[in-house]
Amino acid sequence: MAILLVAFLQVNAQTGQQMDSFISKLMSQMTLEEKIGQLNLPVSNIFVSGERKDGQLSPLEQRIAGGELGGLFGLKGAKQIREMQKIAVEKSRLHIPLLFGLDVIHGYETTFPIPLALSTSWNMELIELEARVSATEAGNDGINWVFSPMVDICRDARWGRIAEGPGEDPYLGAEIAKALVRGYQGRNNDFSVENTVMACVKHYALYGASEAGRDYNTVDMSRQRMMNEYMLPYKAASEQGAGSFMASFNEFEGIPVTANKYLLNDVLRKQWGFGGFIVSDYTGVSEMVNHGIGDLQTVSARALDAGIDMDMVSEGFASTLGKSLAEGKITVAHIDQACRKILEAKYKLGLFSDPYKFCDEERSARELFSLTNRAVSKEIADESQVLLKNDNKLLPLKKSGRIAVIGPLGDAASDMPGCWSLTGKAGESVSLYQGVKTAVGANGTVEYSKGSDLVADSLLETKLNGTMGFVIPGMPVKKVHDRKPEVLLKEALDLAQNSDVVIAALGENSNMNGEGASRSIPDIPEPQAKLLRSLVATGKPVVLVIFTGRPLILSWEDANVPAILNAWFPGSEAGTSIAGILFGDVNPSGKLTTTFPRNAGQIPLYYNHKNTGRPYGEDQAYSRFRSNYIDVVNSPLYPFGFGLSYTSYTYGDIKLSAPEMTTNGKVTASIRVTNSGSRDGKEIVQLYIRDVYSTSTRPVKELKAFRKIFLKAGESVEVAFDLTTEDLKYYNHDLDYVCEPGDFDVMIGPNSRDVKAAKLTVK
Ligand code: BGC
Repeated sequence: MAILLVAFLQVNAQTGQQMDSFISKLMSQMTLEEKIGQLNLPVSNIFVSGERKDGQLSPLEQRIAGGELGGLFGLKGAKQIREMQKIAVEKSRLHIPLLFGLDVIHGYETTFPIPLALSTSWNMELIELEARVSATEAGNDGINWVFSPMVDICRDARWGRIAEGPGEDPYLGAEIAKALVRGYQGRNNDFSVENTVMACVKHYALYGASEAGRDYNTVDMSRQRMMNEYMLPYKAASEQGAGSFMASFNEFEGIPVTANKYLLNDVLRKQWGFGGFIVSDYTGVSEMVNHGIGDLQTVSARALDAGIDMDMVSEGFASTLGKSLAEGKITVAHIDQACRKILEAKYKLGLFSDPYKFCDEERSARELFSLTNRAVSKEIADESQVLLKNDNKLLPLKKSGRIAVIGPLGDAASDMPGCWSLTGKAGESVSLYQGVKTAVGANGTVEYSKGSDLVADSLLETKLNGTMGFVIPGMPVKKVHDRKPEVLLKEALDLAQNSDVVIAALGENSNMNGEGASRSIPDIPEPQAKLLRSLVATGKPVVLVIFTGRPLILSWEDANVPAILNAWFPGSEAGTSIAGILFGDVNPSGKLTTTFPRNAGQIPLYYNHKNTGRPYGEDQAYSRFRSNYIDVVNSPLYPFGFGLSYTSYTYGDIKLSAPEMTTNGKVTASIRVTNSGSRDGKEIVQLYIRDVYSTSTRPVKELKAFRKIFLKAGESVEVAFDLTTEDLKYYNHDLDYVCEPGDFDVMIGPNSRDVKAAKLTVK
């Protein structure tokens, strides 16, 4: 083993030396303009290559030929990308290939559940597989660099981008970050391995903590909170070997992250040893003019000095760095360092040996949206939905009788891929209605009625039906509000009356979450809520299937609707997968990774909160001078880690292998979990700790381990977790990562609320 390791290190060092000397030689031939060109990342129109007239290069192509770009993003298709790469390699003076980036966030043509949904699977193999398939599709279609994983921890249901991330827990977020980087880059970060692409970890840092959940908003917090509660996923992705990072739009400590030397240089590069390159977010450099820290020249120089290597879209580097250098505001060393990072990425990707290695038209034709990939998408969707309520075992339904699918999201195929699926085959996704119809076949009847508009405001609904909230001139606009609400409602109620069961498909469409889609009251919009109230009033059994990219406020629904399945946005095979769960072919196993609040005023609400000096019972009625509200209890509607199944699980008591542990020791915490119901199922067993006394305050619970296990009906297993002091560490006030001796509560259970506890003392 040791010999192998030495050999591996030697080979790596050799490759490192070869790379260094190759790049040094190349850079010695580069002009200042060519070096600055490498730091420039413009966007191109998706699907559109630079159109050439009479053999002339388009303006974009002329820039490539002139060595003015280091990469390009937004372009789709192996053929177009090959053409662009050809210009870079054949027409530019030094033949330097381009990086081709794209937002491959939850799939490429085959789409997968949105990342928040993916996280509710708690299944790291499936999460890795999702990234693997995405890399295979995108990586054969010309893309060598994906703007993923997005690992911003978020505790605010108002923020639309909570849909793109791993939820509210830093430990789970870190596990997901590693799984996704492994999926994109391969297990050894060796890009010579087929179908690997470079990951870009975003949005570094703390973007998910935007004030009031309003996108792009200010962030501020203590460094201690930052390290303990937000940074773990970014750090884990860096340690996993992610090739690049993207700086976030927000400011931190009064300095936009794009110019924040502390975050980019001191923490990411120096403390964590990140060796890849850092790109700004879209116009992140020029936006610092609006932040008010200088004009374009000043902010560009500050960004470079702070550690940004590549400027996405602003053209601030391209247009001002030369001047700043001449004026002595930056040095050649600054530019050289950034240029080297970009060239290193290209070298590692193997682009200098084969610039076209990611453009495989034949292979991409075979891979894209293939039946195999769609089957993987379904498998992942099956584990990424959360059953929130199921009174009197209303679910699973029988595949017979008269079934009504009602609601504006019931037959919305193009919404199923979710918020970041510009390259997905939206129209070819399976809607819920289609899925239910196929599942039932000739054994019953399935009918659909829209029942209500999506939202009350028709102008808003027009925007929400556009492309990412834009109505592009010339684009066919879907008609909205073209029928009277009373007529829609009557049709739906007539159908409900004539049916045995109603499946109500309500919530958000895919543009109501994701970037720039904050909501002050994240609930089911009124026209749909009215429809639901009317459906429930018919007395027919109603199953509510929720489509959403965020935790929704479902207090009325929980009190009045017997069964609720949170489907999120399940991707290409949405309808097939949801139907599988509704009819019991699949036993639901997802569990929430974000807390669901009872009302908007509780937000931010998260399970791993501090205790305060005046803590108060989660479900107790109002009491003055305690930490609580007059008008709502403290507890959430659904806690972190919660999700039901068609079977039931019982948990024994926790056993610790020893009640005490030394600072370099290990203790095993185990618990017996039994499938006490009548169906096979998958259960997510969760371990939490609480540091009872410590020099800084600690959360009431922190997830430290979990396991997703399969149990046959009646089967029972002992689930064991090893704990060492590594699991008990935190960043103290001096930002040292320490385990302080003393008492810890160790808790295990099916969610963050219903846990069994044992005491562990660290000596
Ligand atoms: C988003 C990023 C994305 C980039 C490129 C930005 O607006 O914040 O997440 O990668 O655009 O599309």
